[in-house]
Amino acid sequence: MNSLKNRRRAIAGTALVSLMAVNLSACFSQASSSTSLAYQQSLPDHQVNSPWFQQGQLELQNKMQHSVLKGSASKAKNVILFVGDGMGVSTVTAARILQGQIAGESGEENLLSFEQLPFSGFSKTYNVDQQTPDSAGTMTAMMTGVKTDAGILSVDEHANRSDCNSAQGRDLVSVLELSQLAGKATGIVTTARITHATPAASYAKSAERDWEDDSELSTEAKANGCIDIAQQFIAASPEINVTLGGGRKHFLAESLGGSRLDGKNLIQQWKSKNTQGQYIASREELLALDANNTTSLLGLFNNSHMDYSAEESAEPSLLEMTNTALSILKNEQQGFFLIVEAGRIDHGHHAGNAYNALHETIDLSDAVASALSQVDLSETLVIVTADHSHVMTFAGYPKRGNPILGKVVAAGEDSPTLAGDGLPYTTLSYMNGRGMHDLGGEGNADVVKKLATNVGRKDISNIDTETPGYHQEALVPRHSETHGGEDVGIYATGPGAQWLTGVNEQNMIFHVMALSLFGD
Ligand SMILES: [Zn+2]
Repeated sequence: MNSLKNRRRAIAGTALVSLMAVNLSACFSQASSSTSLAYQQSLPDHQVNSPWFQQGQLELQNKMQHSVLKGSASKAKNVILFVGDGMGVSTVTAARILQGQIAGESGEENLLSFEQLPFSGFSKTYNVDQQTPDSAGTMTAMMTGVKTDAGILSVDEHANRSDCNSAQGRDLVSVLELSQLAGKATGIVTTARITHATPAASYAKSAERDWEDDSELSTEAKANGCIDIAQQFIAASPEINVTLGGGRKHFLAESLGGSRLDGKNLIQQWKSKNTQGQYIASREELLALDANNTTSLLGLFNNSHMDYSAEESAEPSLLEMTNTALSILKNEQQGFFLIVEAGRIDHGHHAGNAYNALHETIDLSDAVASALSQVDLSETLVIVTADHSHVMTFAGYPKRGNPILGKVVAAGEDSPTLAGDGLPYTTLSYMNGRGMHDLGGEGNADVVKKLATNVGRKDISNIDTETPGYHQEALVPRHSETHGGEDVGIYATGPGAQWLTGVNEQNMIFHVMALSLFGD
C-alpha cells in the first residue's frame, strides 16, 4: 500500500518535471476548449484533477456563461497581482479614512486607488485544514488554483505540513511558472523577505513555509532531499526577471552575516547563474538602474523583512520597487506577470499596531496608482486582493471626521466617550494580541515583541493614540495577534476583471489569471 502510494507520487513528480521541460510553443498552440485549456497540459494530473482546481474552473465557467457580460473580452497580455498581506475589509476602510484625513479631509468619502477599480468581489480564504487561514495556503490557492493546508507552499493537501517525504510528487505549478513557459517576463516585488510565504508560493514547493534556509530544515527534510526555499529561488532565478524585497540573511552563510549553515553564498550563485543580471542592495542602486539595459535583476534591501515605511529608513518604497519592476518587465514583447506584495500590513497587525498596518496599506494604494498609470488596461489585468484578514475591529460611534487612530468622540461632543467602565476607548482595537503599548514615536511595530502582553482595558485618557508607536487594546492574550477568517475584497480592472465579482473561492483567482493570460 505504502509503496504503491510512493510509486504514484514518484510518477506524478516525474511527470511534472518532464512537463516543465516540454517544448513550450507546443503547450500553447494546441486547440483549447472551455473545459480544458491548452495550458493545463503543462500541469501535473493531480493538479488538474484536484477537486479544488475543478471547482474553481467550474465557478469561472458558470460565471462566463450566465453573466450579462457573457462574451466580453477576457484576453490579457499582462497580469499584475497585488497582494495586501492581511489586508481585510476593516483595514481597507480605516486606511481609506486615514489617507483622506492626512490630506486634510474628513476621510470617510475618500477611496484608495484600488477601491476605484470597476470590478470588485469577495474571496473566501479558508485553507483545506483551517477555517482561518495562513499566507502559505492562501497564496498557493491564488498561484495554482488549488487550496492546500496552512503552512504549505504550492504542494497539494496530500502533503503533511513539515513532512518532506509526504510532499514528494505533490508539487503544483504556479501561474508565474506558466507565464515563464509562455515566454512572458516575470517579476516578484515584496516588502517582506522574498523567501517568505506569499512570494515563495510563486516559485517554491515546500511542505513547510519556514524552511527559508538550510538552518531551518528538519533532519527528516534533509534526509529526504527537501531543499530550502532560498536555494529553490536560486534554481528558479534564471526564469524570474525581477525580484525585489528583503531576506538577504537566508542567502548568506553565517560567516557572511547570514543564517545559512552550509557555508554557501547564494547571492554569488545567483550572479553565476545570471551572468547578464544585476544584483543590488540599496535604494540608490535601484533608482540609478537603466531599465532598458536590464533583463535580470535581484535586489535584496534588508537582511530580513524590509523596514516599515513609518521607520527612518534608506530603503526603497513599494512604489519605487514596483516602478522599477514594471519598467523592466514592460520591455518583453510577449507580456509579463508581476506579483507585488505589501507584506508588512500583516506584520503591523500581528504586532497589534494599526498605525503601521494602515500606512503600509496606503503605500500599497500608491503603488497600485502608479502601476495603473503605466500599463495599457486594454491588455493588462490588474488584481488587488488580500490573502486573509486580521482581527482589527472598527467600532463605537465616533463622529464623522473623528481621527481614525483616535479615541471615540461621539457626534456633537468634544471629549472622548466613556465606556461602561468609565474609560475612553479607540475606534480601532484588536480581538487578540499583545494589548496596549504606548511606544510613542517608535516606527518599528515589532519592538513590542520584546514586551510582556498587556491585554484588557487600560486607562488611555492621557495617551496620544495617533502616534506610530501606539498599540491598540486587545481582549484575548496572545504572543501575536491572529489572522481573521472573514472574506477579503478583490478589486480588479482590465480583461478578465469582470469575472472577479460576487463571492469566490480564493483559488478562482488563479483561473481568471490563467484564462486571461493563456486562454483563447
Ligand atoms: Zn500573518
